[in-house]
Amino acid sequence: MPSDLHSTLLTWYQLHKRKLPWRGESDPYRILVSEVLLQQTRVEQAIPYYQRFLQQFPTLEDLARADQEAVLKAWQGCGYYARARNLHKLAHKIISGSQHLPRSSSELQALPGIGPYTAAAVASIAFGEPVAAADGNVRRVLSRWNAWENPNPKQVQEAADTLMAELVYWGGSVNTSDGSLPGDWNQALMELGATVCTPQNPGCRVCPAARFCQGKTRPERYPATRARKQKGLEVVALVLQGPKGVHLELRQGRVLGGLWGFPMEEGPGALGRLLARFGLDSAEPVGTVRHNFTHRKLHIQVYQAHWEARENPKNRPLSRLDRKILELIRAGQSRLL
Ligand code: SF4
Repeated sequence: MPSDLHSTLLTWYQLHKRKLPWRGESDPYRILVSEVLLQQTRVEQAIPYYQRFLQQFPTLEDLARADQEAVLKAWQGCGYYARARNLHKLAHKIISGSQHLPRSSSELQALPGIGPYTAAAVASIAFGEPVAAADGNVRRVLSRWNAWENPNPKQVQEAADTLMAELVYWGGSVNTSDGSLPGDWNQALMELGATVCTPQNPGCRVCPAARFCQGKTRPERYPATRARKQKGLEVVALVLQGPKGVHLELRQGRVLGGLWGFPMEEGPGALGRLLARFGLDSAEPVGTVRHNFTHRKLHIQVYQAHWEARENPKNRPLSRLDRKILELIRAGQSRLL
């Protein structure tokens, strides 16, 4: 079965793959940037960021020389900013050492922000290493092929990794004669998951892998899932503004560190603590903003007050959350912002 499955899927991939700016790319740095973007960003949304990022930082050396703030500005709006900070660190590390990205997935994994999946994707696509890359799309496809009932995501990942390791070996060895590489096989599976074997309404009728698939009668049952709980959080944001601009603070921490934003506090007494920080007696309520992070649902009450502030928000990298606050303020008074 594997050689049949491989030739069917690889032929389908060559005929039906989407035209994407990183397809056919041979520069490992560019492949790396695309894979880092695709870690948490959908393809359509990632394309303009990919183009803009590489226009600004066309080589690893350009990226290493840039200020972190410029890197975050180029990433602004894409979310999961640790990716941009880690790419920047990675560029520094490479340029101050060997000058080249390592070729094996095990060495790539030692670099900042590169997990097993990204390392495998880059090593297989850029350097032809026969190593399996199982992202969420691939896990879904494999769960359906095998009708896996297990709802434990860790165990499904392990099973997918094991199966992919066997399949990529076949894919890499069987098809080298026609020019296909392990990277093609990995991408063929990802492409099937992204365009045919989608989470909802999978296209089983047109699927090239239907005859190998045990889950095709009830595909949406796989992979079995457990509901993920998002914790709600009450937050207060204070927009301090004057004729010359607004007050922004440099954010710290893993999620938004390195970006700039409006002063915020969470939990009981948040407004009082914010006012005390700036020596204010009161602030005017403006409205509310909702924003979801992976595990957090933020409900943000926005207040504004007069302040001799000088920052122009256009000059700083802001998170999507802070841009929502800015839009709320702009909707109320476009004069200053
Ligand atoms: S037959 Fe349906 S469930 Fe199976 S791989 Fe194809 S699209 Fe997915």
